[in-house]
Formats: sequence, C-alpha cells, structure tokens
Amino acid sequence: MYYPEPISKLIDSFTKLPGIGPKTAVRLAFFVLNMKEDDVLDFAKALVSAKRELTHCSVCGHITDQDPCQICTDASRDDSVICVVEDPKDVIAMEKMREFNGRYHVLHGSISPMDGIGPEDINVPDLINRLKDDKVKEIILATNPNVEGEATAMYISRLVKPSGIRITRIAHGLPMGGDLEYADEVTLSKAMEGRREL
Ligand SMILES: [Zn+2]
Repeated sequence: MYYPEPISKLIDSFTKLPGIGPKTAVRLAFFVLNMKEDDVLDFAKALVSAKRELTHCSVCGHITDQDPCQICTDASRDDSVICVVEDPKDVIAMEKMREFNGRYHVLHGSISPMDGIGPEDINVPDLINRLKDDKVKEIILATNPNVEGEATAMYISRLVKPSGIRITRIAHGLPMGGDLEYADEVTLSKAMEGRREL
C-alpha cells in the first residue's frame, strides 16, 4: 500500500460513488485533506443526516423527512392525477418545471426481465392500491424513454386499463434511451403537453 490507512479508506469510499474512477478518488481524497476541518465535519454530517433522516414516503415513495411527504399532504394539489416516475430525482425534475399540480408515484426502478426485475420488485402494487378509492381519473406514465421504461409503462397500462382510468404516456420529445432527470425543463414540459392516450 502506498497510502497511510486513513487516506486509503477515504479513497475506497470515493471509489464507491458512481462516475468516480480510481484517479478521481485519489484527487478528491487529497482535496479533503486540504479542506478546513469545519467544512469536512459539515460534509460528513450532511452525508450521515441525508442517509438517516430521509425515508421513503409511505404513500408515493418519494424521498422525504416527514411521512407522508410534503407533496402528498399538500391540500392544494389535484388528487385526480398521478404522475408515475421511476426515481425520486424525476419528481424533483418535474417539480422544477412548475406545471404539474397532481400527485406522484415513484416506482424505484423499472421492469427489466433481463435483470430479473419484475413488477413485484418495483412499487407497482402500492400504485394499484392507491387507485382503489376512485379519486384518480388519470395516470401519466412518465417512466424513462428506454426499453425498460417502455416495458414498465406498457405493463402498468394493461393492468390499469380495465378500471376505466385515463392512461397517458409522456411524449417523446425526450431523447430515446435517455434519462428523465437529465431532460431540460422545456423538453420535459413539451413531453407532458404532448402526452398521448395509451
Ligand atoms: Zn408522498
């Protein structure tokens, strides 16, 4: 080992983050060594509290520090529309757009038979439960425009169709194979406007 143990541990920790290769991990670890102690403590506390204080909303599955989350408890929002997304980051992308005033449902993944992920492995059963109280008139399927996202949208569409609830899919101004969270607000807004019946 070239590094004293505390720094090699830090390098290992950075390597576990997505998009961080060994070289970047070394650079970041040495950067931390040169930071002010207070800033390092704040950083460490932010990591721990993000992990400890955040949970998944028991209604919609979004990340939250209160359960149910702020969006689910906001009385000014429209109960009749649920926008179904794969990831909490997609909720945040939608909220930045400031045009959607319904509720959300976060699946935490998408159906991927290749990876052995079926409907029961993502938050589909909870979605079906939410439809039982008859308030919901439309479901907008805003899963990612890639193979798994499409398969997930088709699956939910087939499952919900018999209930007579309107089912729409966001339009593909979004790049195919892309990720919803990286779409800019205009593209996302157009995709919502252009949603079609399924
Ligand atoms: Zn919620």
